[in-house]
Amino acid sequence: MLTTRLVYPLIVPLMIISVAIWLREYLSLLPDSYLVLLSYLPYALLIATGILSLQFNQLRGLLIAITLALSFLIIQLLLQNSLEEAPALTSYFLLSLLLPFMLMMISWFPERGILTSYGLLFLVVTSLPVFVAIYLYFNPNLIISPLSFFIIREWSFSVLSPFAILIYLVAIVHQLMRLWILQQPFDAAISVVLVALLLNFSLFDQTYISVVVFSAIQLILIWSVLKQSHDMAYRDELTGLPGRRALNEALKSPGRKYVLAMMDIDFFKKFNDRYGHDVGDDVLKVVASKMAEVTGGGRAYRYGGEEFTVLFKGKELETCIPHLEAVREDIASYSLSIREKSSRPKTLKEGKTKRGSRKKSKGISVTISIGVAKKRPELSSAELVLKAADKALYKAKKAGRNCLIADKK
Ligand code: GH3
Ligand code: MG
Ligand code: MG
Repeated sequence: MLTTRLVYPLIVPLMIISVAIWLREYLSLLPDSYLVLLSYLPYALLIATGILSLQFNQLRGLLIAITLALSFLIIQLLLQNSLEEAPALTSYFLLSLLLPFMLMMISWFPERGILTSYGLLFLVVTSLPVFVAIYLYFNPNLIISPLSFFIIREWSFSVLSPFAILIYLVAIVHQLMRLWILQQPFDAAISVVLVALLLNFSLFDQTYISVVVFSAIQLILIWSVLKQSHDMAYRDELTGLPGRRALNEALKSPGRKYVLAMMDIDFFKKFNDRYGHDVGDDVLKVVASKMAEVTGGGRAYRYGGEEFTVLFKGKELETCIPHLEAVREDIASYSLSIREKSSRPKTLKEGKTKRGSRKKSKGISVTISIGVAKKRPELSSAELVLKAADKALYKAKKAGRNCLIADKK
């Protein structure tokens, strides 16, 4: 659980930043002309991030890429002097303290598309603090006294103030919690970007640190835009479960021993006719969430329509049955409270009176039928195992529904 939710998604971004920091040691071996080119690398990568974000319509990736490229610009233009001097120190404070807040804020922006009025509004909101940092560079007295308690330390490992380190740690934990709950590559990327920024501002006195960190950050963002789109293609939008494509992928290498279950909602057509398609969708979501919680090492997929598949890798059929039965019972005993389509108010006035009376809203429930089959020698491919499970499902429907039938060889 911990590894799939928190460790796997972080591997690629952590590798990118580690390799970048490792390469930094060797940069001084490069001829000067290369080093000049290198200082433009974060901008070149920003263009790539920008094009990809536009292509895949991912506003947040673009906003963060721009914010960080602007920050790198400030570092290049204003922060090459010693931090002892007031203007440089002010910008350093602002950048190092603002960035974690901005990244946290952007991660909450709704993904509404880039070329929309929202997208453009967010773009302006996001760039503002960077301009404030530039303004304060030229008017350092405005801020230097109130901020003096963040004063930087001459520690051997960090020039960042303890307060700023604390803010970074809070932001990193915040992002990891989002990753844990939402499971989006974007949050994995931002968690590591925050770690990278913490390193950058802590080791600010090391040569080439910023160019290396900011290039790595753009690469991490490129990875996140691509991974986010890739995951979208594999995930079913309505239910959030992995979709048919993900199932096909998993069935390419299911291992020697596995069990497949086909699940189908009973009389769902009638249900839709009676309560409407929207209520049907809500029920599908609830059913899917119950299936996602299947125990015993099973993984649920939306096969299509109101049909779902659960794959148990490396398991015996007998050990899977209780876990599937638990899902079936869980769904059958769940009651969703809705108003019947026919009892929906037809006029505003009727609606007002009806809304007051609770009688019309009632609990409805659905049941599912399950067919299950295990890999056996006669079933040479995963497709055939799936077919056997489907046959068993058909028998479960015949047997009166709301039950589980296992494939008998
Ligand atoms: P059975 O018990 O034999 O499975 O009966 P059934 O009515 O569930 O079977 P059938 O396969 O005939 O109908 C499936 C229905 O599921 C058809 C369609 O109305 C509904 N359905 C499929 N996908 C969706 C969806 O995404 N949303 C909603 N609301 N309904 C869907
Ligand atoms: Mg069906
Ligand atoms: Mg059905």
